[in-house]
Amino acid sequence: MKTGICGLGRMGAAMAERLLSQGCDLVVWNRDPAKAAPLLAKGATLAESPAALARQCDRVLTMLYDADAVDQVYSGPDGLLSGPVKGKLFIEMSTIGPEAILSIGSAVTAKGADLVECPVGGTIGPAREGRLLGLVGGSADAVAQAQPILSLLCRRIEHAGPLGAGARLKLAVNLPLLVYWQALREAMGLVADLDMPPDRLADLMADTSGACMAVKHRAGELAALLAGTGEPSLSFEAKGAAKDLSHMVATAAAQGQAMPVTAAARDAFTAAAAGPIAGRDAMTITALDWAAQRAARP
Ligand code: NAP
Repeated sequence: MKTGICGLGRMGAAMAERLLSQGCDLVVWNRDPAKAAPLLAKGATLAESPAALARQCDRVLTMLYDADAVDQVYSGPDGLLSGPVKGKLFIEMSTIGPEAILSIGSAVTAKGADLVECPVGGTIGPAREGRLLGLVGGSADAVAQAQPILSLLCRRIEHAGPLGAGARLKLAVNLPLLVYWQALREAMGLVADLDMPPDRLADLMADTSGACMAVKHRAGELAALLAGTGEPSLSFEAKGAAKDLSHMVATAAAQGQAMPVTAAARDAFTAAAAGPIAGRDAMTITALDWAAQRAARP
């Protein structure tokens, strides 16, 4: 059975590596084809367009930046759905809102194919190791068809309900961490003037409920960031955090729910990702005010 993957960014490339390591017959496509080179060296085949990839494959995974990218790759000229795809299985894994997944679902169904959504928890390391958390939405039959390939990528698969349920569960899982980075930024402001080196401060946070699991694993990176001696590895880009926070607030609003804390974190990330932390990991928001606060010490 041939598997295709469209989108070879940080996550898509890591997932493709994992599938190749598990012996999958893999066809890949990326808007910038240069990113496919390391995968071609490991045995993948390059498709010249999403349409060509869909022609060759029985099941197609998509891992793209946002809803616009997903829409272009599925429904654009030379898109996945531009040719006959009856009976094929599409698995959409990007983090997008529930409305967008429902709209792609209608387009896929209209072509006689099936769509499963499976946005994921976990980052590049877990993707390479097949240890992602799969948050699945779709019909029971389609999800059963997707199970074998998803089990190569995920340590845990939660079938949340129909299409759109996976997107909402993914946003819920991500929300506390993204709000946390802004909360940690504010917490650091409270103690910036103390005569305490960043490594002791980061260690203290990691040893208490002042840190969530992500910081417990990355205390060294936090210390180096605060000390100005090292840049955290780029795992989840700040602009992605702003995008996801926007989806959370919009999805809650559509459900009649206010999210004042999340909305404040969205605004903070949107401003920071457009300026001082553009292209950097979401964690870097933590240190945005730190150097100035530290320098203002009496
Ligand atoms: P990324 O490294 O920025 O990759 C984005 C991918 O989307 C690239 O393949 C890019 O193609 C493609 N793309 C963007 N706009 C496009 C368009 N208009 N048409 C076609 N392709 C387009 O992002 P990532 O970190 O892999 O994240 C991918 C998705 O996974 C996002 O939805 C993100 O929120 C989610 N996610 C990320 C993480 C993480 O830790 N990074 C964890 C869980 C979920 P080019 O290479 O040509 O630009």
